[in-house]
Amino acid sequence: MMFLCRWLTRACPQTFFDRAHLSAGTPWIDAGLSSLMPAVSHSDSPGIKKESANSLSYEDFTMRIISAERLRQAVEALILSVSRSLPSDVRAALQSALAEESSVQGREILRQLLANADYAEATGLPLCQDTGTAVFFVEMGEDARIDGAGLQATLETATRNAYASGYLRNSMCHPLTRANTGDNTPISLHLDLVAGDGLRIRFLPKGGGAENMSRCAMFAPSRGISGIRDFVLDTVRQAGPNPCPPIIVGVGVGGTFDLAPTIAKKALLMPLDMPNPDPDAAALEAELLDAINRMPIGPGGLGGTRTCLGVRLLLRPCHIASLPVAVNIQCNAARRGEICL
Ligand code: SF4
Repeated sequence: MMFLCRWLTRACPQTFFDRAHLSAGTPWIDAGLSSLMPAVSHSDSPGIKKESANSLSYEDFTMRIISAERLRQAVEALILSVSRSLPSDVRAALQSALAEESSVQGREILRQLLANADYAEATGLPLCQDTGTAVFFVEMGEDARIDGAGLQATLETATRNAYASGYLRNSMCHPLTRANTGDNTPISLHLDLVAGDGLRIRFLPKGGGAENMSRCAMFAPSRGISGIRDFVLDTVRQAGPNPCPPIIVGVGVGGTFDLAPTIAKKALLMPLDMPNPDPDAAALEAELLDAINRMPIGPGGLGGTRTCLGVRLLLRPCHIASLPVAVNIQCNAARRGEICL
């Protein structure tokens, strides 16, 4: 067993640094970290046998091998399909909003958004000119590994290829010089290691207009639920028409300064028609949705009663002295999708 643990650590050196979350970096920002990581290969590990093209074994332990080429092809198809179509629950929420919206201008905006979604699906054109930062949430089984280029490099290659072949806009640039990286990389990768040998990849292209309206705060615990409520509503009020409403509001409460925004973004992956399993979170979601839809922002920011399609809230335990709260706003082009390999 000791050998196995040592081998897993050597085979996946990044897990040693941060098992839960990795943000993909650019060569000019974090090349230093990767240069500290030892190069490893299976030939370094005596006793491990390659049983077949799809597995390695050691005594009674078998590791599943997933081909980088298969992963690349699947992720390219995922990116292209997600960029061209709205998830069914988002489309249904837009249709409900159209039925309920009281303003004439609001109804017209909602009709145009639904027509735009139909047109994108029929033509294969992207839903929006802003095809976003390529954000991936990956759950990878600890008994699986990617053979070949590895997970992050394969996701980067798939992103590069899909954005080129699908004529999707390259939106990534150097933060100081603003020089475009030219291929929509680097990606943003959030990696969770889980039990088993599966691989689940969720893709969320995130537009800049909505991302810019997102905020994080570190409150004292005494601010309580009313502090959370006020912060979310104030964030949406300040955002106004900028995040292309109707919006979806992802809220992350708890964790740490870095984790709260991550779970706020992860909350945007929750389908709108799925009840929150936490009853307290569900009650706060309903209260916030009602309060946001009483703001006079409306679809397209032109006034109306359907500013928000849904509020999704994820909770995580936090330090007794802290109350981190993050709001990640998603626009009407709320694209997302997933594959499991
Ligand atoms: S915020 Fe969303 S809808 Fe608005 S331009 Fe960006 S991706 Fe498109």
